[in-house]
Amino acid sequence: MKYLIWLVVLLAVVVWFQRAKKSMLAGNDNGPEARPESGIPRPKMGAARRSAEPGAETMVQCAHCGIHFPSSEAVVHASGAHYCCEEHRRLASF
Ligand SMILES: [Zn+2]
Repeated sequence: MKYLIWLVVLLAVVVWFQRAKKSMLAGNDNGPEARPESGIPRPKMGAARRSAEPGAETMVQCAHCGIHFPSSEAVVHASGAHYCCEEHRRLASF
């Protein structure tokens, strides 16, 4: 367990050195982004969290009335069209 902690510390130091080297090669201090304590850039994390949201689901449109609803509630016709309920699927088949 002690070695794991040292491994993490070593990795952090290596990453910090690489970042410092990269910012040195890029030239002067680029502001808050070049500082090692600012950590990982945040916009990517936010985008990933939004797509992994449990409430998010693919929305489909009813081919009969045009209402939007989650695909899990869809009544799918043999042709592949989605309907909001069994009645609309039946009405569309006529
Ligand atoms: Zn409908």
